[in-house]
Amino acid sequence: MKVLKFGGTSVGSAARMKEVAKLINDNTPKIVVLSAMSGTTNTLVEISDYLHKKNTSAASDVINTLAGKYKKHIDELYSTQEYKDKAWEIVNGIFDYIRNFTKDMFTLFEEKIILAQGELISTNMFNLYLQESGIKSILLPALEYMRTDKDSEPDCVFIRENLKRVMDEYGKADIYITQGYICKNIYGEIDNLQRGGSDYSASLIGAAINADEIQIWTDIDGLHNNDPRVVDKTFPVRNLSFDEAAELAYFGAKILHPTCVQPAKSANIPVRLLNTMEPEAPGTLISNETEKNKIKAIAVKDNITAIKIKSSRMLLAHGFLRKIFEIFESYHTSIDVVVTSEVGVSMSIDNTKNLDEIVSDLKKYGTVEVDSDLCTVCVVGDLDYANVGFEAKAIDAMDDIQVRMISYGGSRYNITFLIKAEDKVKALKNLNEKLFNIK
Ligand code: ASP
Ligand code: MG
Repeated sequence: MKVLKFGGTSVGSAARMKEVAKLINDNTPKIVVLSAMSGTTNTLVEISDYLHKKNTSAASDVINTLAGKYKKHIDELYSTQEYKDKAWEIVNGIFDYIRNFTKDMFTLFEEKIILAQGELISTNMFNLYLQESGIKSILLPALEYMRTDKDSEPDCVFIRENLKRVMDEYGKADIYITQGYICKNIYGEIDNLQRGGSDYSASLIGAAINADEIQIWTDIDGLHNNDPRVVDKTFPVRNLSFDEAAELAYFGAKILHPTCVQPAKSANIPVRLLNTMEPEAPGTLISNETEKNKIKAIAVKDNITAIKIKSSRMLLAHGFLRKIFEIFESYHTSIDVVVTSEVGVSMSIDNTKNLDEIVSDLKKYGTVEVDSDLCTVCVVGDLDYANVGFEAKAIDAMDDIQVRMISYGGSRYNITFLIKAEDKVKALKNLNEKLFNIK
């Protein structure tokens, strides 16, 4: 059995949903995981924001506009009045439910319920469309099997047992449809796997049923060797190891959500990135195989801030790094890259929400400098230290660029540079030339 996940843009209109239906109708058993239609989760966040601010009339306006859009999607998706009516009854019922939240107290608990509605709508609409088209499918409610534990981490045992139970209970079909992103937490409340979490759902489901393959369908042709938004000439990368994919996802490649890699890797289930616009294209296969002696790809992460703390007295004292890291931890800010020297430590972060507080706490231990408007450029591949000259090639590409930090040797798979945002285009072009011979 395979698991196929389609993201928001892949189900973003009636026409796209019809394409997906064609794609999955090939008489092979599968679980299809869907995101909310594109833009919907953002709109649900907007509605929640208004409700937190007690601006019920603005919330109602946004709800009504969104409901209007869905009315149109429904008109376009189904050909018979019978199915248009059926779909509108479900979808309008969900909007009425959302409207109810404008009348009562609104907390984070209600917000999570609202955020879950996008996937409930898209899967119901899609399942009904398959029915109307005479394709047998079964809708599996994710809220009955997807669950997080007391640490808000997926409870894999619960998921495995309950997914199996639900599949047995709801009957047999080649095509099961289910919601990505949404789950229940340890208290039985509706929750989610964080924004972009549908990839994670697919990976967890794949691991739970020991799938033959997990397919992540988007509207780009797999992963490219460099950022196609910045560099003209890029090419698709056909094979990646899970470790390489994890580095790329974490360091900004918009291919799949970073959390998605782990469950598939542990269960040794290959993940294939495929393109709904070009379903025949081979895409990118992510597996436990590493191709030796190859640099695979470059990823960029924007809006990075570097923080340097200098202390000639304290640095070598044991416990210094722990104190520094504890400050970041207390503000729930994770550090991306760390570089140390005899007299100082530099760290990079992408979440600057508590930057002022962090800086003032750090000042207890030394002088602090902050550099903003940076980006991380991460070169990923078989960068084992036994491969002589690989890191030198990457560094060579930076010969006319100011480099704020370099990190190498943290894993076998990457070398990361922190540079000014304004030098990003130049750095990516230089790397394309030096590492892939593309001018
Ligand atoms: N709909 C959710 C979001 O927009 C989950 C996802 O699409 O992966 O974040
Ligand atoms: Mg996504």
